[in-house]
Amino acid sequence: MKTMKTMLSVLLAVLLLAACGVLAMAECAHEYDPTYYPPTCNDRGYTEYVCSLCGDRIQEGFVNATGHMYGEWQDLSQPTCTATGLQKRVCRVCQGTETRTIGMLDHADADGDGTCDTCDFVFEKEENNELSPYEWLKLFFRNLVAWFRAIFA
Ligand SMILES: [Zn+2]
Ligand SMILES: [Zn+2]
Ligand SMILES: [Zn+2]
Repeated sequence: MKTMKTMLSVLLAVLLLAACGVLAMAECAHEYDPTYYPPTCNDRGYTEYVCSLCGDRIQEGFVNATGHMYGEWQDLSQPTCTATGLQKRVCRVCQGTETRTIGMLDHADADGDGTCDTCDFVFEKEENNELSPYEWLKLFFRNLVAWFRAIFA
């Protein structure tokens, strides 16, 4: 009889605790205050609702980032036949900059003197590119010697 009473009171206590837990977890009546965060160049925009009672946060109504609103490309340096050029442009909204390189120019020989008109580059004559059989053989043996040296060094 005594154990029955103890068991009952334990059960009651457990039920009471459970009831308290349910009450504590009961739905908040949620009073949300909306704050609008507009999109920026890099980030999405959205509206955030924060409950003033329980602090619950919901974000919704996402809109895509706007992307940068770049102005015109400006020359920082002009490309030459020995160096690349550089350009930059600035975002009108966030002042973020973007740069790009401009490829080198080809050597030019308008006056046909065999050297570049703007730098000291000497154009190779076509016939020099083709080795005579004798030169080819010389080069072949030179490479062979270098190859043997590399192996037996
Ligand atoms: Zn709430
Ligand atoms: Zn921007
Ligand atoms: Zn040149």
